[in-house]
Amino acid sequence: MPVALVTGASKGIGAACALALAEAGHDVGIGFANDAEGAESTAQAVRNLGCRAVVHQADVSDEDEAAGLVSAVEDALGPLDALILNAGITRDGPALRMGAADWGAVIDTNLSGAFYTVRPALRGMLRRRTGSIVAISSVVGLSGNIGQANYSAAKAGMIGMVKSLAREAAPRGVRVNAVAPGYITTDMTAGIPEQFREQILEHTPLGRFGTPDDVAAAVRFLCSEDAGFMTGAVLSVDGGMAIGA
Ligand code: NAP
Repeated sequence: MPVALVTGASKGIGAACALALAEAGHDVGIGFANDAEGAESTAQAVRNLGCRAVVHQADVSDEDEAAGLVSAVEDALGPLDALILNAGITRDGPALRMGAADWGAVIDTNLSGAFYTVRPALRGMLRRRTGSIVAISSVVGLSGNIGQANYSAAKAGMIGMVKSLAREAAPRGVRVNAVAPGYITTDMTAGIPEQFREQILEHTPLGRFGTPDDVAAAVRFLCSEDAGFMTGAVLSVDGGMAIGA
């Protein structure tokens, strides 16, 4: 069975990706930071689909912990065929009032955390000349957003990283792509005030928030042979929000 590792799979988009990849026949490594119960419930759902699952706690903003996550999953399940760089946080606020701690936490987790995780995984994939990596960026990495200078910079940075890695890894048959979700109903977006939610819907041609499954379907596609000629791509899953961007 192919093996996938999903970071931030205790809930939300990461949990949906873990299940979508299990449905496509992957054994799944489930990374999490704090929510052990959520991670275990994702693992149980993967096992219910007849696939193996292993849960591992790691703060991806710590280079050693990120490397430990990759090796723990490979030791338990075997070499990685797919890696989903999904772990992420927000620390929103107007740029002039954003302190270095909020800037740094988001860059360290969302951007450096992805880099720290992808490197040890990529090494093995290049050696084996196979693999698919998908980074979860964001529509705001393409457009920017009021109150999200840190988050938008991290998500734009992920796109630059993905395109560079795609060029580096293509000669060895490893594909690297990004998904740029719009507004998806998860814990991360649960606190958005009603007035702002209405504005978001006005700018979303399909007229609804997305679901974690909407994003997971794109991730599953990018990890499949159907996407065998795709690398360095940024797939928008945003209800049309980025049309014209
Ligand atoms: P979520 O429900 O808040 O889940 C975030 C996940 O990231 C959790 O599993 C969390 O683990 C994990 N995580 C956070 N900090 C971590 C760290 N330092 N090390 C390891 N894992 C860490 O968020 P979500 O909405 O599903 O978002 C998932 C990804 O999609 C994020 O990268 C986010 O930026 C991106 N995204 C979301 C939206 C949206 O509208 N929701 C839109 C575009 C992009 P614990 O639960 O264990 O703390």
